[in-house]
Amino acid sequence: ATPTSIMVGTGRGAELGLLFRKGEALQRLEGAQVIAFDKTGTLTEGHPRLTDLELAEGFGHADVLGAVAAVEAKSEHPVARALLAAAEEEGIEPAPVEEFTVTAGHGVAGIVGGRKVVVGAARLMAKEGIELGALAGAAAGLAEDGKTPLFAAIDGRIAAAIAVADPIKAGAKETIAALHRLGLKTAMVTGDNKATAAHIGTALGIDTVVAEVLPEGKVAAVEELMRDHGATAFVGDGINDAPALATADTGIAIGTGTDVAIETADLVLMSGDPAGVVQAVELSRRTMRNIR
Ligand code: ADP
Ligand code: MG
Repeated sequence: ATPTSIMVGTGRGAELGLLFRKGEALQRLEGAQVIAFDKTGTLTEGHPRLTDLELAEGFGHADVLGAVAAVEAKSEHPVARALLAAAEEEGIEPAPVEEFTVTAGHGVAGIVGGRKVVVGAARLMAKEGIELGALAGAAAGLAEDGKTPLFAAIDGRIAAAIAVADPIKAGAKETIAALHRLGLKTAMVTGDNKATAAHIGTALGIDTVVAEVLPEGKVAAVEELMRDHGATAFVGDGINDAPALATADTGIAIGTGTDVAIETADLVLMSGDPAGVVQAVELSRRTMRNIR
């Protein structure tokens, strides 16, 4: 490879807001067979909003939302911000929380006003031995609409099924279609609910959806794509995406994402627009064509 073409290519990339960390990254992207995406904050806006809160028998709306907001006030997760914002809009002030715990990829818990409050995915409720009862069906319906279903439990009893929805980024669907036209396979890897992820994957036209992956499981998911389909680029924005970004043949960070993701990546899409991946693949192909 001639150093001059690589320099011209990375320079052209910089003009387009595609920051290649090393010239080698520009060369390597040409060989990609699969582009795998994180969901939240990468293909979706990353700013979910509360859409539904269905109460179990014997629980009150303000009481449950207040208890939920109290524990979520300690979490940095986008889901937590959605629930806090909803409480705030209703003028509910989160109470102090004690013994706060977070289980990565599951949810949060704490003691609020002497009551144990647990908020998170169905798998967290299963871990805590909490029966979902009639709310299991309600949550399944919400997930089929592409919303993320969550549950709140108070003192060991299911209190509510909650849903948050995160809009798909403008241009995400076109990005996936353009990658397919370039002959690439697409995948989405997410910790979110399977039915929710399937709905979003179908809406975007993504080939392979891997859902309900624990944070430490993203690496295994990328390794499996590499084994099954060949060279794989992974696109992500979160702290929990960093190991997968490091594992993939090409790690691509969303420029609006976390510092850890940006520092780990081989390529940074400055604008945060996933369409940058298409431009980057085209640029790498053009560059390598000039070299050969
Ligand atoms: P993702 O970034 O794809 O949402 P995570 O591993 O961060 O993946 O989270 C997986 C799931 O765990 C979320 O979809 C949500 O159901 C649940 N979860 C994680 N953090 C929280 C939280 N702070 N409050 C409620 N649920 C949470
Ligand atoms: Mg993300």
